[in-house]
Amino acid sequence: MASAKPESAVERDQRIGLQRIRDFLKVRTSYDVLPVSFRLIIFDTSLLVKKSLTILIQNGIVSAPLWDSKTSTFAGLLTTSDYLNLIQYYWQNPEAVNRIDQFKLNSLRDIEKAIGVSPLETISIRPTRPLYEACRRMLETRARRIPLVDYDDETGRAMVVSVVTQYRILKFVAVNVHETQLLRKPLKHLKLGTYKNLETAKMETPVFEVIHQLVNCNISSVPILNSDGVVTNVFETVDVITLIKGANYDELNLNVGEALQKRSEDFPGIYTCSIEDRLDTIFDTIRKSRVHRLVIIDEDSRLIGILTLSDILEYILLDGEGDDSKID
Ligand code: AMP
Repeated sequence: MASAKPESAVERDQRIGLQRIRDFLKVRTSYDVLPVSFRLIIFDTSLLVKKSLTILIQNGIVSAPLWDSKTSTFAGLLTTSDYLNLIQYYWQNPEAVNRIDQFKLNSLRDIEKAIGVSPLETISIRPTRPLYEACRRMLETRARRIPLVDYDDETGRAMVVSVVTQYRILKFVAVNVHETQLLRKPLKHLKLGTYKNLETAKMETPVFEVIHQLVNCNISSVPILNSDGVVTNVFETVDVITLIKGANYDELNLNVGEALQKRSEDFPGIYTCSIEDRLDTIFDTIRKSRVHRLVIIDEDSRLIGILTLSDILEYILLDGEGDDSKID
């Protein structure tokens, strides 16, 4: 039975704002998100894993579509998860380190089988499909990015057009949908973000352990706390890439504090917010900065929760239908 409680002005605006965003995503396609000119780096599946790492770092990217030139087909998307899997394999088979150096990208599938994790991401979407559909596919598969693959109508041959990320989509919304300014309900009144069973670490925690947390929980970051529960930093999956560049797996023996010192000079820092913050201002932040997550803290900088782009995408598409791990 529907609640008889009248809708407040803030609630009505929130509902209208969400509806406008969904309407917008339904009439725009993934093509619309792409800049006029962009570069696309695609890896041949016969490339050595070691070389792929160097290319990612040199170009400041964290993923690349794969191309099987033997069959002329799209072969999935290489992401940081694949390198985390490789590290897991290395742990289980430290004696195989010389062999790992010779691994090509097409051996990643065997590695995934050997360690029993789900295979390389192979979902894709045609760029002419509505953006809303691309978002739904990403939510269903928990992917943080989706390759745009087109097919020639006559030959049926695939053509990789680009990759769209959660950030790019949310920034596109932030720039083009003025009604994001209607989203004025504070986080504390929304089922948005994760507040229970938070995975955290300390500066002294070995990187090995944090990688297990990232893989086992399928998350892309772990807040770093001091002994008072104050957030001092965030360890991200991309930090692992910097660490193993040059295929130097010894660096994985460092602790979090040592590993974070290896971050590049231009690391933008971490973003925090409070439980009183609202999506209108969070969309302002997305419009101005390449933010991937906000750590929710109290007035003493202690950890309360975490809000990632996956959470925001899920909320704006599905109106906050959360699971039990979300705030009550
Ligand atoms: P992400 O892959 O970082 O977008 O996160 C996927 C889901 O896991 C989101 O619902 C996040 O709120 C949640 N999440 C992210 N990081 C953590 C963490 N350290 N501990 C618990 N949940 C997290």
